[in-house]
Amino acid sequence: MKKINLKYFTTLLVALVLSLGLTTAVGFSQNTEELTVGTSAGFPPFEIMEEGDLVGFDVDLMEAIAEEQGFDLQWRDLSFASLIPALDAGKIDVAAAAMTITAERDKKVDFSDPYWSADQAVIIREESELNVVQALMGSRMIGSQTGTTGASWVKEELIEKGIIGDSALRHYDTYVMAVRDLVNKNIDSVVVDTPVAETFTERQPVKVIARLVTGENYGLAVKEGNSELLAELNTGLSKIKDSGKYDELVQKWFE
Ligand code: GLN
Repeated sequence: MKKINLKYFTTLLVALVLSLGLTTAVGFSQNTEELTVGTSAGFPPFEIMEEGDLVGFDVDLMEAIAEEQGFDLQWRDLSFASLIPALDAGKIDVAAAAMTITAERDKKVDFSDPYWSADQAVIIREESELNVVQALMGSRMIGSQTGTTGASWVKEELIEKGIIGDSALRHYDTYVMAVRDLVNKNIDSVVVDTPVAETFTERQPVKVIARLVTGENYGLAVKEGNSELLAELNTGLSKIKDSGKYDELVQKWFE
């Protein structure tokens, strides 16, 4: 009978136990890393409350990234304008809210690789006969959501150029509220991102009358300097693009 080399056997056993332990430890730490994700439900189909549940493209996108990278997500619904302050204060780790990457925001937070492109659109009531000049430049009421690129467009292109007065722009906490006010005839138009404008036309008696080419890109935002988390998000994003999961979500929410 061959003699077993006891020393060799013990070393092997120790190595095995160690590597098993390590695998479990790594697996364990991956599954328990928790991220608080802030969004602003009121922006279909990116984030919206449906029967008390937060759903949408951004919600699925973040969940898919989290699954790839081993995060558990806690969602918080905040007003859009308070997402950047919340990142800054460490109340949320990520903002997933169809947020346009702008130079001004980029000074305060860090953005992931872009995951969507959009322009602005002008929507009016379905039965309205206003043309875009009348809707935007006549003495009409325009609605938009506080702190958005839509609101900035109206300010920069119309108010600051003296085409309309300050009071012609009404701010809302969410675009859902702005569109409700439009349908109720309290305002005459809403300036909102193109994909969201399209979604509203499917759900409300409104129509798109113009596209304002702004060339925006959406990114996930993290606290300024959190490069470790940013790298995780970018890796997750590229993995779900490669795996076909991203396309699956586009089909689910946009087709
Ligand atoms: N993309 C627009 C922005 O960043 C609107 C985003 C939103 O309302 N969720 O300002």
